[in-house]
Amino acid sequence: MHTEYYIQGYHANVTFQNVIGGSNIINQPKIETYYRATALPRTTSSALTNHEHAQVCVIGAGFAGLSAAKGLAERGIDDVVVLEAEEIGHGCSGRNGGFVFSGFNLDEADLINQVGLEHAKTLYLHSETAVNMVRNNIDNFQIECEVNNSGIMLANWFDRPEILRNYKTLMAEAFDVTLGEYGLDECRSLLKSKRYYGALHEHGAFHFHPLKYIHGLADGIKSRGVRIYENSPVIRLSRTKGGMHIVDTPNGAITAKMIIMAGSAYM
Ligand SMILES: Cc1cc2nc3c(=O)[nH]c(=O)nc-3n(C[C@H](O)[C@H](O)[C@H](O)COP(=O)(O)OP(=O)(O)OC[C@H]3O[C@@H](n4cnc5c(N)ncnc54)[C@H](O)[C@@H]3O)c2cc1C
Repeated sequence: MHTEYYIQGYHANVTFQNVIGGSNIINQPKIETYYRATALPRTTSSALTNHEHAQVCVIGAGFAGLSAAKGLAERGIDDVVVLEAEEIGHGCSGRNGGFVFSGFNLDEADLINQVGLEHAKTLYLHSETAVNMVRNNIDNFQIECEVNNSGIMLANWFDRPEILRNYKTLMAEAFDVTLGEYGLDECRSLLKSKRYYGALHEHGAFHFHPLKYIHGLADGIKSRGVRIYENSPVIRLSRTKGGMHIVDTPNGAITAKMIIMAGSAYM
């Protein structure tokens, strides 16, 4: 069966056979942010304007897409193309809080409840590896991204010291992570606010300029042979009889053995 998938954000007036996602936010005007205003000048990669072949086509140049492309290049897959609808880092990778630390959106206690202690430990270890990977990228590609290595404070909004105490114990017992402590006065004087009631300190975490980081990461993986096209929204996916993927953009296409969808909330 021949199946075509249309990417809704980019394809108006079609009778969709299969629609990936439902978000149209991608066509909104560029959002001016502090990070865009302070990014280093760069030359945008060209848009895709012909039909090319690749072993792997990655859709989306955020942290996920570029990290996947880098991982493939490191494993000897030298024929990788990344297609980005807008500019590199257009999504939340280029405009997030900039905090780099282990763990997940899900609270650690909830993570343990959801997947069990052993699996949670494995996942947490992976997240620590991810933080180290970001540090290695910054070093290896010499990315100027305003790294601040002071660690991260987890401040308590509530006058309930047991919240921090319990979290500190959980992190030590379950994940072997030792968190530092700021008492009430030290925390308030550091944050210049009476809003908080003490804090924990994660030493290994850091802060950076996410857009500068992702621009540097893109330059780094380009130097390893990965082709990146910006302003090249993927509007349709289809397969040939031989099982190859055809990835269409408005002015070009990629025929690829494999695709990686890294379009996050846009898809
Ligand atoms: C306000 C905010 C603050 C955050 N703060 C932090 C933080 O401090 N620390 C932290 O670790 N995480 C933080 N996050 C989360 C983090 O930013 C995301 O988890 C991460 O950036 C997701 O990366 P991604 O590559 O999956 O998605 P994205 O960065 O969204 O990348 C997806 C890319 O795909 C492209 N794309 C979409 N559709 C197509 C298409 N059809 N064709 C071609 N390209 C397409 C988009 O243009 C985009 O560039 C924050 C998130 C938000 C929203």
